[in-house]
Amino acid sequence: MKLLPKGSKLYSIIYLKCPRCHRGKFLQNPVYDMSTITRVRSNCEECHLNFKIEPSFYYGSMYVSYAVNVAIMVAISGCFFIFSDEFSFLKTFITLVVVIVLGAPYINAVSKILWANLFLKYDPEK
Ligand SMILES: [Zn+2]
Repeated sequence: MKLLPKGSKLYSIIYLKCPRCHRGKFLQNPVYDMSTITRVRSNCEECHLNFKIEPSFYYGSMYVSYAVNVAIMVAISGCFFIFSDEFSFLKTFITLVVVIVLGAPYINAVSKILWANLFLKYDPEK
């Protein structure tokens, strides 16, 4: 059961679904499949939307990836700062590295779908 309703961009982003129909898969393989890390399908299997709007379209998602990574780092550092009795730079740094490295494939996928959602709108008719 999915908690988010179809029609919101968040649904497409969280479940990595086609930005237009919210049914088709956005990625070729699961996020943590290391042979094809976050390779985007050429088109949607449900509504046949071309995901590659123009050549090198997903290079723009690097800006989004940077913003997502900074947001994660600020959130984790903030939590350490607020909730720990004695702030340790080393513990915070190690936690950040572990989270960013282990989460890199998912962050990359989320960045690409966020980028696609900036340009593509949900259309329930499709
Ligand atoms: Zn679709």
